[in-house]
Order: sequence, then structure tokens, then C-alpha cells
Amino acid sequence: MNIENLFENDGRVRVAVIGEGPAGMMAATVAAESGAEVIIFEKNDKAGKKLRITGKGRCNVTNDSTNQELMAAIPTNPKFLFAAFNRFSSADTKSFFESHGVPLKVERGKRVFPVSDRASDIVNAMVKACRDAGVKVVREKITSLDIRDGKVCGVCNSNSVCECDSVIVCTGGKSYSMTGSDGDGYKFARAAGHKIVEPKPSLVPIVADGNLCQRMQGLSLKNIGFKIVDNKSGKCVYDDFGELMFTHFGLTGPVVLSASAHIPDIEKGKYTAYIDMKPALTHDELDKRIISDFAKYINKDFINSLSDLLPLKSIDIIAECSGIDDRKKVNSITKEERGALVEAIKGLKIPLLRFRPIDEAIITKGGVDVREVSPKTMESKLCHGLFFAGEVLDLDAYTGGFNLQIAFSTAVCAGENAAWNFEA
Ligand SMILES: Cc1cc2nc3c(=O)[nH]c(=O)nc-3n(C[C@H](O)[C@H](O)[C@H](O)COP(=O)(O)OP(=O)(O)OC[C@H]3O[C@@H](n4cnc5c(N)ncnc54)[C@H](O)[C@@H]3O)c2cc1C
Repeated sequence: MNIENLFENDGRVRVAVIGEGPAGMMAATVAAESGAEVIIFEKNDKAGKKLRITGKGRCNVTNDSTNQELMAAIPTNPKFLFAAFNRFSSADTKSFFESHGVPLKVERGKRVFPVSDRASDIVNAMVKACRDAGVKVVREKITSLDIRDGKVCGVCNSNSVCECDSVIVCTGGKSYSMTGSDGDGYKFARAAGHKIVEPKPSLVPIVADGNLCQRMQGLSLKNIGFKIVDNKSGKCVYDDFGELMFTHFGLTGPVVLSASAHIPDIEKGKYTAYIDMKPALTHDELDKRIISDFAKYINKDFINSLSDLLPLKSIDIIAECSGIDDRKKVNSITKEERGALVEAIKGLKIPLLRFRPIDEAIITKGGVDVREVSPKTMESKLCHGLFFAGEVLDLDAYTGGFNLQIAFSTAVCAGENAAWNFEA
């Protein structure tokens, strides 16, 4: 497709937005509402491919938090977001969607969802906001930027250049690349002289060492305690409650994904996970519970005495970790052996090996180095007229709607400033 003469050239500032995800659609809407002529370039055949699968299809659109609380949920470069959150807070995100016809509700952990539980309602509202503001969408992959004398002058596809006054790069990170975010934004930023902080997976499943998880594959545990300990220092780097699943490779589920955001990297021997399968019981209370189960199964083999206490798939593993002989009669188990059983249940040890690949990560840690981007305007400090918004930046947050809030807040700043900064 020839993209040369797509802008009307009617005197308005011409803004090209690359990417029709949450950041791109918000930036485009705001730029157009600020008076610019705006075109979104999107290589997918529909808007918000990733946004549609967020929150398991329900879209946790923001977190009902103060700006201070938002920043506390962002492990990488939170201070960079101070001005952006002041400009567009989570209350503003809620007002935006409610005023665009999507009623919202607040759930556990202040997570905000559409009342309909449909991420597609969020996508449709953003598409309509773009349309109402007069944004054009061109379904085309951008291959490079036209940069001359330290200023961006256009976006290029394989055979033509579309001239414009400013470009907002909203191409996302590198995770879930089948949704379109495959790292092109880093290429554009590098060509403009930007440093890219190495993209790494975050909010990602974890591969375990050994075969314990494989043997419990398919088992899903709710309300467990989950801890990760640094083997060398003995320091606990993560400690929370939640839900996890055992898989053929290791561990996944909400508490595991959250834990991954607290660790920079995993290598063999560095970290061990401890799963507390009975966090509501103290060691003594659990021991009492075991004594009562043992009384019930007094003449049974040890291995056949645990089915009231533990899920079936975990019994062999816990028995093995306790060191008690499977076939030992319950009536001959000693107090010390019971102590070892309590330890195995309250601290099932899983040595960790590595993260799963970035493609399986919910978000990308790393990206365009924010030291080279203005935190107020999201404009590049190296190339005039070039703006960044969303996950392409070196910003990442925990689960809870914070990552979409980052996309919206940075996009509003970029959209306004891309439209205001230039004289046509
Ligand atoms: C399974 C899953 C669940 C998630 N759930 C939540 C949640 O509930 N709450 C939350 O806050 N966050 C969630 N996230 C994270 C959130 O979806 C992202 O942080 C957010 O989508 C980033 O928005 P973005 O606009 O920066 O990038 P993206 O949404 O990745 O959009 C980038 C767009 O740019 C386009 N693009 C890329 N390169 C080019 C190019 N060269 N030319 C043209 N177009 C291009 C892509 O096709 C894509 O449409 C989830 C992520 C995943 C994977």
C-alpha cells in the first residue's frame, strides 16, 4: 500500500500513531481531541488484539488507587510516572470509560473491571472514542521512521513514506507476540539513537528444577501460601497468598506470576519456592489435625491416611518429602515423623530453574530507557517530534490493572503533547 498522501494537509498538526492497542487508541483520541489530524497505523486486522484477552477476557482496566498507591505497584521506574499519573489518574481512567458507556465495578484488591465482564466492551469504547474524535485507522505495518536532522518527519512502510509532524510509538513490548507486539518499537527507538534496556519477561510462569511439579501436573491449589527465598542470603524475596497451578514445566497461576515481577532473573540454584498448603493452620494446629486423621485411620498404611487433608495428586509427593515410609502403619508414626510431615505440608520445597520465555509473559520488563524520554510529555529527548507511550517504555507493574493504567497515563501525555508541540 502507498501511504504517501494519507493526511489531508489542511493545516492541522499531523500525528502518526503506531499501534492500535490501549496506548495507541488513547494517544490518538487525545491528540485528535487536542486539534491534530491523527492516523493510527496498525498491522493487525482489528483493534486491541491483546486488550481483548486481558484479565482472562474480562479486562482489569485499572486499579482504584491513589497515585501514590499506583507508584507503589510499579517496581521499575515508578518516579518517571509521577507527572503522567498527575495528568491522568486511575479516577480519570474510570471516568473515561464510564463516560464512554462502559459501567465499571471494583473487585478484590481494588481491581476495576467492566460490569459486563467483557474486555470487548473496553475495546469497543476505545474504537468509538477514536472514531468520534475523527482518528483514521490504516491497517499497515510500519517498518521504519523517517528521521532527519534530529527530527522525525514521517513513518515508512515497505514502499513509501507518510510525512507527518509527530509520531507516537505505541507498539507494546515483546510478550504474547502473536497479538502483534513483537518488538518493532525497540527497532524504531534504536534508530533514533535510544538505548533499550534489555527486554525480559515479567508476570511469567516459572520453570522448576526436578520433577515434583510434573508429577502434580494439572493440580490447582487455591488459598496457599507462596514464598520465594534467595538460597544464598536466606532472604525471603516474595511472600503472599493466592492460587497456583502445577504444570509439566513447573509453576503458574496468579501468585506465581506476581512473584516473578519481584525477581530480576532466575538461575539454577538461586531461588527456592516454598508452598504452604495449609496457611490457615499454625504448625501446632496442623499437627493436631494430623493426630485426629491418624486416629481415624489408625490401622492403615501412612500413604492411605492423608486423603482427608490433601488433594490426591499431592499425597505421594508430600509423603515422600516427609521422609516417612509409605507403608508404615499410622499407629507407629513418631512425633518427630509427624513434625516432618507438618514441615512438608507447610513448606513444600520447589527449587526454581528459570522463567518461561518472554512470549509467555504477561508483560515485558525493559524497553525504551526512560532517562531519554521527558516524563511530562513522553517526547524523546533525542529526536524532536518522536513520542512513546505504553509498554514499549521501560516500565512495568504488578498485576491488578496497573499496566493498563501506565498505558493510558503515558498515552494521554504523549497524545496532548504530540498535538500541541508543533506548528503545522
Ligand atoms: C494475557 C494477558 C493478560 C493481561 N491482562 C491485563 C489486565 O487485566 N490488566 C492490565 O493492566 N494489564 C494486563 N495485561 C498487560 C496489558 O495488556 C499491556 O500492558 C497493554 O496491552 C500494553 O498496551 P500497549 O498499547 O502499550 O501495547 P499492545 O497492547 O501490545 O499494542 C501494541 C500494538 O501495536 C501494534 N504494532 C506493533 N508493531 C507495529 C508495527 N510495526 N506497525 C503497526 N502496528 C504495530 C501491535 O499489532 C499491537 O496492536 C495483560 C497482558 C496479557 C498478555
